[in-house]
Order: sequence, then C-alpha cells, then structure tokens
Amino acid sequence: MAEKSIPLVDHRYAASTPLVPAEPLPAGALLSDRRGRELHDLRISVTDRCNFRCAYCMPREVFDKNYRFLPHDSLLSFEEITRLARIFVDHGVRKIRLTGGEPLLRKNLEVLVGMLAGLRTPDGAPLDLTLTTNASLLARKAQALKDAGLQRVTVSLDALDDAVFRRMNDADFPVAEVLEGIAAAERVGLGPIKVNMVVKRGTNDHEILPMARHFRGSPVVLRFIEYMDVGASNGWRMDEVLPSAEVLARIHAEHPLVALSPSQPGETAERWAYADGSGEIGLISSVTQAFCSDCNRARLSTEGKLFLCLFANRGHDLRALLRGAYSDRQIAGAVGLIWSGRDDRYSELRTAEAAAERTADGAGKRVEMHYIGG
Ligand code: SAM
Ligand code: SF4
Ligand code: SF4
Repeated sequence: MAEKSIPLVDHRYAASTPLVPAEPLPAGALLSDRRGRELHDLRISVTDRCNFRCAYCMPREVFDKNYRFLPHDSLLSFEEITRLARIFVDHGVRKIRLTGGEPLLRKNLEVLVGMLAGLRTPDGAPLDLTLTTNASLLARKAQALKDAGLQRVTVSLDALDDAVFRRMNDADFPVAEVLEGIAAAERVGLGPIKVNMVVKRGTNDHEILPMARHFRGSPVVLRFIEYMDVGASNGWRMDEVLPSAEVLARIHAEHPLVALSPSQPGETAERWAYADGSGEIGLISSVTQAFCSDCNRARLSTEGKLFLCLFANRGHDLRALLRGAYSDRQIAGAVGLIWSGRDDRYSELRTAEAAAERTADGAGKRVEMHYIGG
C-alpha cells in the first residue's frame, strides 16, 4: 500500500528570526500594537501531540501514524518557557494559559506549573494561571496540578451522549472519564471550571440542550464555541457553523437568559446568566462576531515561535534568541518590536468564501491549532 503523503510545505517551520533592537525596552514597559491593543494574555502550547483526534482540530486522515510530530529536542524546555514567561510578565502579561495538543501529555507538567506559579508581576501579584485540557488524564493529575499552583482549568467536552462524544474525539474515549476529571478538578479546588463545547451543525448541535441542562445549577460555566476555520486540515465549511445567536435562542426558549457585562476587557466569551439564578453560560462567536478589536492574546508554540493571531501563517522564532547569546533585556526588546508591528485582525476581515477557499486549497497554509494551542 502506498504511504500517505505528508504536506511538502510544513508551516510549522515558517518563522522569522526576530530583530533585536539596539535600544532595550525600558523595564516594565507595556507592549502596545498598531491598533493600540496591549499584550495581556499568553497561551503556551507545551506539546503538539494529543491522544484525541477531534475532526475539527486533528483529523485522523492527516494526523495518522505517518505524521511527524516535533522531535523532543525542538521543544522548549521548562526553563526556557519560564524564562520567556518572566520576560512577558515583566511587560504586561497577566494571564498564562497552558495548552497544546493535550497539555497533560507533557511529562511532569506540574513541575512547569510550579515554576510559572512562582512568577510575580512587577507589583508583586501572582499570575492568573490556567490550563485547557481534554480531561482524559485530569482525574489522575488534578491534585498534583493544584499543589503545584495551578488556579483553574478549562475542560473541552463536545457532547454528553457517549456515542456522539466517542465519535467526535475519534479515540473512542468515554464521556464518563471526562466527567470524572471535572469532578476531580472541582474536588481539589481548580475552579471556577469552564467547559468548552465546540458546536458543529449536524454533528453535535442536538447536544446543546442536554449539555446546558447538565451544567445548569452547578458552578461550572459552559461555553459554546463556534466551529472555526483554524488550520488547513479540518475541511471547514460555513454551513457547519451554528451561530451563537442560535445557541442562545435554543437555550433561552427553555431557560430564560439575561446578558451579563464582560468581567474583563478582551474577554472572548459573551456572558449570559440564567434568569432564575442557576448559573451562567458563555458564547464564543469567533466566526459570526469578531472580537479582534480588543484581542490582547499572543501564542507561543511548542518550539518557541510566537504567533500574534490564531490565524497567522508565520511565527517569530523566539527559541533562536533563547538559544543564542541574548540577554533577557534584549529578548524583551525583540518581543516589544514584534508586538508593536502587530496589525492582525483575521476574524474581522474573514469572509465565508475566502475562509472556505483557504481551507480547501491544500494543507499547510496556516498554522494548526494543536501546535499553537487554543
Ligand atoms: N487538547 C486540549 C483541549 O482540547 O482542551 C487543549 C488544546 S485545544 C486545541 C484548545 C481548544 O481549542 C479546545 O477547547 C478545542 O475544542 C478548541 N478547538 C480546536 N479546534 C477548533 C475549531 N476548529 N474551532 C473551534 N474550536 C476549536
Ligand atoms: Fe486534541 Fe484538543 Fe485538538 Fe481535540 S481539540 S484533537 S483534544 S488538541
Ligand atoms: Fe485575535 Fe486573531 Fe482571533 Fe482576531 S482573529 S480575535 S486578532 S486571534
């Protein structure tokens, strides 16, 4: 049997080596981009591997046994990640989210959590430190993560119906174990817990109400994410996107909801509370309602490339600086220069046709989500 071909152009490696300015960034200077957006939130992908094969993220036809994941020595070490994180925190980052791939597959992740939990902002405050996980290993790891200083977790769960969920994760993984992971996280105090459900019309939209009913009345905040055209391998089509407005209408018809104001600027989710006081839900409308105007997030790939937008096709190779003879001040200067040139606002400019064209016309055009994290 012929071997499956691997895309010739591997955009994981498309990156520029950052310029290091002669003039270092003043200590504590905040970073502002060309649209006046300050960098606040850093998402760090700790592995590009995953034990699930969700079709919207790592479809099995592409991420099969021939797929070349990153070799171990190309990954940033925990020391390198912490060094970069410290530099970002010195210049305005207040929130760090560990992600992947599946972050709990990274060996000894709690050691990294402990190192990041020790960082302080210039005025001495701890960071908002969180992690997004498919929860397959969470029941086992929740206590160690909590002990290391993790504050809270976001769990991805796309259905309560076991058959639907097993099909969507394409690894035959049962719902019950994810629910056990959530329960363990609650028990050890990794809250408030958020649960993310990616909604695909025709695949799991009939699970919206069962999911809402299940988490209503619990401290868990369920958030519905519009299926996005990230990467280049999920075969995204606009007709599979169920607009958040429709999610809202379906839940509202059964349990009336009232709008809440955002808790933080740049928040991705629109918040709604059940009118009877039984908790809240979130709607992340990345396709139908762009939130680029206050997007304050940067993403660091598993091998140390900085991406300024989820839809970017080029990173900035910070690992080259970490492994070169550069000081923290010089690296901070380079990061400042990169962020000051940022003009990204993909979701505001997206048109359905252009997005479908981009995902249809070949692999490797845009960076994949499992590589830079969600
Ligand atoms: N493996 C972990 C998990 O699933 O929680 C962390 C990484 S995953 C890439 C981060 C988040 O991205 C998940 O909540 C996932 O559902 C979401 N995601 C992945 N592909 C997506 C897509 N095409 N559209 C919307 N959300 C997506
Ligand atoms: Fe893995 Fe998360 Fe992507 Fe699913 S969404 S394939 S769990 S990285
Ligand atoms: Fe931020 Fe890019 Fe998403 Fe817009 S499309 S919200 S700039 S990550």
